[in-house]
Amino acid sequence: MDAKVYELLNDQINKELYSAYLYLSFADYYEEEGLEGFANWYEIQAQEERDHALIFRNYLHDNGCKVKLLAIAQPDKEFSSHLEPLEAALEHEKYVTSLINDIYAAAHEAKDYRTMKFLDWFIEEQMEEEDTADTMITRMKLFGSDAKALYDLDQECASRTYATPSPLASAE
Ligand code: MG
Repeated sequence: MDAKVYELLNDQINKELYSAYLYLSFADYYEEEGLEGFANWYEIQAQEERDHALIFRNYLHDNGCKVKLLAIAQPDKEFSSHLEPLEAALEHEKYVTSLINDIYAAAHEAKDYRTMKFLDWFIEEQMEEEDTADTMITRMKLFGSDAKALYDLDQECASRTYATPSPLASAE
């Protein structure tokens, strides 16, 4: 595998694990705020991010590449409103999209068509992640200032359940 493509794929394991850590910190914030549904939402989001890390890890193993696990940064965001984590999530997902695009560009440059094909799932996934994050913001802006509506939103978030992402499910 091309050295640059390898480095970016290996780094992405770390970035996805950081995403899991970041979303766990969002869950902690909502837990402290008494919004257990939102806490549940981000706990599940954190599980999915860990899965993303495993998908990259498996891909390296499947291609005979050594996995190097790097130190995970500490999430350090402080929030002063229920809207702020949702906005931070959208910003973070846009950043992750840019990382996936960078790997894709490097793979294209190296004529690594296998990695480009592998990344297709993540390109679609990022569209969904950004769309979902955007919807969360819209709904909090619309309903978040009304206590009863906020309660309903929280209940809705409480119903989110974990589903193994398809690339990982098919690997089992
Ligand atoms: Mg991810």
